[in-house]
Amino acid sequence: MDRSSELYQRSSGVTPGGVSSPVRAFKPNPLFIDRAKGSRIWDVDGNEYIDLCMAYGPLVVGHACPKVMDAAKEQISKGTVYGAPSEPELNLIERIVKEVPSADMVRLGCSGTEATMHAIRVARGVTGRDDIIKINGGFHGAHDAALVAAGSGSAGGVPSSKGVLSDVAKHTFTAEYNDSQSMNDILDKHDVACVIMEPVMGNVGVVTPEKGYLEEVRKITSEHGTILIFDEVITGFRASSGGAQKRYGVTPDMTTMGKIIGGGFAAGAFMGRKDIMENVAPQGGVYVAGTFAGNPVSATAGLATIDLMCSNDNYNKLEKRTDSLVATIRDSMIDNRIVGCVNSVASMFSVFFGIEQATNGSEAMRADREMFDMLFRYMLSNGVYLPPSAMEVNFMSLAHSEGDIAVLEDKFKGFFESVKG
Ligand SMILES: *Cc1c(COP(=O)(O)O)cnc(C)c1O
Repeated sequence: MDRSSELYQRSSGVTPGGVSSPVRAFKPNPLFIDRAKGSRIWDVDGNEYIDLCMAYGPLVVGHACPKVMDAAKEQISKGTVYGAPSEPELNLIERIVKEVPSADMVRLGCSGTEATMHAIRVARGVTGRDDIIKINGGFHGAHDAALVAAGSGSAGGVPSSKGVLSDVAKHTFTAEYNDSQSMNDILDKHDVACVIMEPVMGNVGVVTPEKGYLEEVRKITSEHGTILIFDEVITGFRASSGGAQKRYGVTPDMTTMGKIIGGGFAAGAFMGRKDIMENVAPQGGVYVAGTFAGNPVSATAGLATIDLMCSNDNYNKLEKRTDSLVATIRDSMIDNRIVGCVNSVASMFSVFFGIEQATNGSEAMRADREMFDMLFRYMLSNGVYLPPSAMEVNFMSLAHSEGDIAVLEDKFKGFFESVKG
């Protein structure tokens, strides 16, 4: 027996499913990772992989990036948490304010889940309204307002997890992505506190906004006095230096971030217009708090990551590299008559099998999971670690070299040839 399966046997007795978060599970057992560097991870059996999962998004400059590690180590030597304000958190906040169009004020937290949970509370507190809208297939972390599936007809939502109260879920309505009319219908019928949405969907694979869609969402939410929250936990400092909002030129009222802003350590943040953010405690009456909020190590690593990405034309370079990999994958799918499509933005991409297009959550969720599973297993046995679910995104990083891309192209081609239509 290899060491990963041994560790899995131990862990499945003491933690549910043997993993600390459900997406990490796959059959027969997840790989236990020993170490990581740049574009590579090594499992406890010594196998090396090119990583395209990249911890689901935080590692835009690669694993254990020397600049980020050095900055974090220096901060660690000065202590890791103070329970009082520190300069690293202020420096990160000021940097976010400078780069992100919607951010007049920022509140740091510990995770994306916490950021979206708090942002929704702020929106409800400011507007005095209860209902919210999310997008079908959108993910905003694992808390009650967001773990909701569409209800029938024009009713509110229903719990998508046991333990979520129906009384909470009924206040969450669901609209379809790239369909502003479906959102407008709900806005007309109900007093909606906020729309929370990923400007580029990233939890049903990558799904991009059609021309004019985000602009229309901006317009109709303003008309209804509804706070527009862009959940940029993935796209913040990924889609561009100012997130998807800067890339597409549409400024929401509030934004949530996580992943990249912690530079590989735990972090989250919500931000927005001053008149909204002034309602957050202790300045205002909407209560949010956290022992590790604004953690100086996370803030230091996050700022080092942002500094590196914003230098040397790195966003452009990374996007060009990703585009060339994506183009090769597309061409090879056509050459081998594989039905499917590839969506990408900046340094993230997804391959959907069995569907001609994925323009919203419903379409994306129709993709062929069995075929994805075959791809995942082929790649794993050929030294490439993809995220183990068809609904997750492949993430590139600055550490993925031209050489890595050549290997990746070769492996994807190998798979398409092996399953030729
Ligand atoms: C990952 C993610 C979250 C949750 O962030 P955590 O740090 O895992 O709690 C929220 N929203 C989006 C869009 C995400 O991708």
